[in-house]
Order: sequence, then C-alpha cells, then structure tokens
Amino acid sequence: MITEANRRLFQQQLQDLENDIMELAQAGQAAASTVELDQARVGRLSRMDALQGQAMSKEVLRRRKEQLREVRKALQRIDAGDYGKCQECGANITFERLKFKPETQFCVDCANATER
Ligand SMILES: [Zn+2]
Repeated sequence: MITEANRRLFQQQLQDLENDIMELAQAGQAAASTVELDQARVGRLSRMDALQGQAMSKEVLRRRKEQLREVRKALQRIDAGDYGKCQECGANITFERLKFKPETQFCVDCANATER
C-alpha cells in the first residue's frame, strides 16, 4: 500500500518528470529543424549523417511523447486514488518499482509478460 506522504512524493516526481520531458521535447524539436537548415550546405555523406541523426532524434522524440502520456496517466491515477495498482491484474505495484519508474502502469509480472 502507498501512504499519503509517498503518494504526494510520487506526484511531485511525476510533475517534475512531466516538466523535464516537455523541456527536452522542445529542445529536440529545435535540434531537428537545425538539421534541416544545415542540409542545404553539406555534402552527400554528411547529409546522410544528418538524416540519420534526424531519424534518431525523431525516435527519441516519439519515445518522450509516449513517456509523457504515461506520466500524465499516472498523475490522473493519483488524482483518482488509483495510483500504485497494476492496470492489468490489480495487484499493488512495489514501492521499489514505483521509485524506479513512477509512471509505470503494471506490476513486474505483467510488465514482463507484455514485453515477451
Ligand atoms: Zn499485474
């Protein structure tokens, strides 16, 4: 079970995480458009590098957006008083796991099952 104090702690952590991701996403978007501007001036080989870098930052951006969604859902679960319960089997998620990944929706067993 999660105590009220811990619930507030995770809420704070999740809000910090949300702010961090939004800042990183903005920085990433700026980097992606810089690559586009540079392409006009670089040769074929470095253009390929630039495109690769752009594809990579797009993937990073996609993952961040996904994490942001998870974080926001976790914040909603805190508001609903449903935080810390596995969304698959309803078991309590361990404190250690929440500390490691506060936005997680699943207990260790269910997370492992979906990854396989
Ligand atoms: Zn579970």
